[in-house]
Amino acid sequence: MKSRIVYGPILSRRLGRSLGIDIVKKGEFKKNCNFDCVYCQLGHVDHKISDPSKVTGLVRTEEVIESIANYHKKVDDLDYITFSGTCEPTLNLEMGEMIEEIRKISDVPICVITNSSLVTREDVRNNLSKADIVIATLVSGNEDTFQSINRPANGIEVHDIIEGLKELQKMEGAKLAIEVMLLDSNSGYLTNSNDHEVNKLIEVLRYIDPDEIELLTTSRPPAEDYIIPVTETRLKEIAQNFDEELGRERIKLVLKGLKRKRSKIKHEDLTNEVYDLILRRPCTFDQMIQSLDIDKNELLPLIENLLSEKKIIKIGSEKDCYYRAA
Ligand code: SF4
Repeated sequence: MKSRIVYGPILSRRLGRSLGIDIVKKGEFKKNCNFDCVYCQLGHVDHKISDPSKVTGLVRTEEVIESIANYHKKVDDLDYITFSGTCEPTLNLEMGEMIEEIRKISDVPICVITNSSLVTREDVRNNLSKADIVIATLVSGNEDTFQSINRPANGIEVHDIIEGLKELQKMEGAKLAIEVMLLDSNSGYLTNSNDHEVNKLIEVLRYIDPDEIELLTTSRPPAEDYIIPVTETRLKEIAQNFDEELGRERIKLVLKGLKRKRSKIKHEDLTNEVYDLILRRPCTFDQMIQSLDIDKNELLPLIENLLSEKKIIKIGSEKDCYYRAA
């Protein structure tokens, strides 16, 4: 089954109703990324990309525009067009041009979700600044913790990323939201939810001065089974600390559960839409119902079909079962 450039729309807690754009295809590797995060919901990165010039499977601007022109007209009320997907979008250096071209055919706000690895590059910052909002990940202000959690390609260091994010925030254009993925471990692995880490995060976030800070924890099976979510009590405690130190108005605590319900999403090719969703993030049955805004009786036969064709597999326990692309 072919992966598509434009997928969705899907509902999410952060962005409401969003049309996704995947501008780095799998290429010769399972996943094009320059990180191999311990919490990655898509599993391990077999081959870390050291540089955008090494990426295979780059999508061209014309392909994106053609896909959107054919697609977004069917959607009544999108909240965002979002660059994300199975791979790190900033690895495609045509992203800035794509954003400019999308603006000529659509007035839907544009979001980029990035792992922040390439904000050290001026060309990438210029691309990002063209969006309406950039959601950039930062897990730690400490080098050893950053290396332990994100396991980046050689040469990527957190102090350069912090400087890059600071530069990006100074630029005209996109609003900057920093996403802090808080983690715990059941085996003593170095993670970022203890007081020492939280204090360092507050220090570097005060320096970067982003417009928004989102705190969350992992909610899908992570790449490493020794990684566990931070408890809700601890998350709230950390959020309160952030509120006091950085200003409550820009702190968002993302907890489980979708909050809003809007008019029904229209579907044209539900089997492919289900597969597209699972390809980009493993989902439970209920999460698919929520994200695609469909009925369980519509979903059940599609899932059974995809399982029998071995396009998807089940992972996790019977109680907490997720579906992932095979
Ligand atoms: S979580 Fe994102 S940045 Fe980390 S390995 Fe997975 S795709 Fe790459």
